[in-house]
Amino acid sequence: MLVLLAQEASAESAGQQVSTDPMCRRWIDETQLLEEPEWIKHTVAPKERVSQLSARYGVKREDIVEWNKLKHSRVSLRKGRKLKIKTARVPPPREELTHVVVEGEEWFDVAVKHRVSTKDLRAWNYRVRSKPLKPGQELTVWIDPGFPRTVNCKRGTPPPPLEFRKDAISRGRPQYGRLKNGILLPESPLWTRRETGVNVLWASSHTVENLEKAFRSLRVDAGYDGEVIIGSISRKRGGRFPPHKSHRTGKDIDIRLPLLPGVIPNTYPRPDVVDWAGLWELIKALIDTGEVSMIFFDWRLQKHLYKAAREEGFTEEELRPVLHWPRHEHKWEAIVRHSHGHKGHIHVRFLCGVDEDQCGPSRARTLLRRGWIDPQPSGKESREGALERREQWKKEGRTLDEGDEADEDE
Ligand SMILES: [Zn+2]
Repeated sequence: MLVLLAQEASAESAGQQVSTDPMCRRWIDETQLLEEPEWIKHTVAPKERVSQLSARYGVKREDIVEWNKLKHSRVSLRKGRKLKIKTARVPPPREELTHVVVEGEEWFDVAVKHRVSTKDLRAWNYRVRSKPLKPGQELTVWIDPGFPRTVNCKRGTPPPPLEFRKDAISRGRPQYGRLKNGILLPESPLWTRRETGVNVLWASSHTVENLEKAFRSLRVDAGYDGEVIIGSISRKRGGRFPPHKSHRTGKDIDIRLPLLPGVIPNTYPRPDVVDWAGLWELIKALIDTGEVSMIFFDWRLQKHLYKAAREEGFTEEELRPVLHWPRHEHKWEAIVRHSHGHKGHIHVRFLCGVDEDQCGPSRARTLLRRGWIDPQPSGKESREGALERREQWKKEGRTLDEGDEADEDE
């Protein structure tokens, strides 16, 4: 009944690398893929939620609720309860392990290390849940080697390059400007255009070029193959686009938060169904183009992103110039910053392109303010200079003074 593991077989036959991350390795090696879905019994681990089971088995949470006559899909499941699940993917069971606390480790660090939630970790260790940790102390952790690793596990296949005109340019500022010769975001396996998108997905060439670059890296380097929906960019000629304040020049993009495998498409992205690791890789790929000016995203939700980034190995220092969380103050220092109404999507704003001399705020001014570039840059130098300075800036954790950037909209 067992088939060879599809992920591994295809990855290896294509000569692609498989990550050395042990959890990824286990997920690939130990997950059984069946030819046909079969009924299996799942024994609920402590604090396990329906949304986690849905991702684990790649089935809809609504089906799990139905099959097991659960009262409500958000019901907390009783430990040890047996559930019926019809799936073609049978991952290894959850495991209970003991974590011995080392010097300097806090609850959050232990949670990051095992990729579990801090809340669950405290619940599994309820006797000491509100106390600081001591070195040598033992904690119970339930890990799930069957939870899908959607990023940095294997490399994806590169899609063919996009073809588009190079003469679409942004004019004026995001809140007042226009789009000249706008291009409709091309269809691509890289992203999904929202259904009613033909009127609202007009972009500048610089935007399309850098979106392609970022998504290519997300698909190939991070190996992410979940659906990512582009919601709104601009109208064909730019200009007013209610209810948005900006989105007028073809360089503001709303991207819906990606969902975990198994979640019904178009479900509202509540935190427990969002693929945070996928979102982090997307944001990282966007920032790595060196062309992102800022990203708006609700401050409270940034905590999930912060944790996902830490789980991928990024340090507190590395994340300081990128995410506003966990600080309250200095909103303007980080690329990802709070803005009201940005909960189900992120809003990405690109810099003005090198050739877009009527675009505002000017590229040079933005880069200068960031400390990413020397005064008076020109042409190609400004791009390379920007990348170089940004690296430097990341290392130094420099602070910014950008209080004059306008707040965003829904
Ligand atoms: Zn927006």
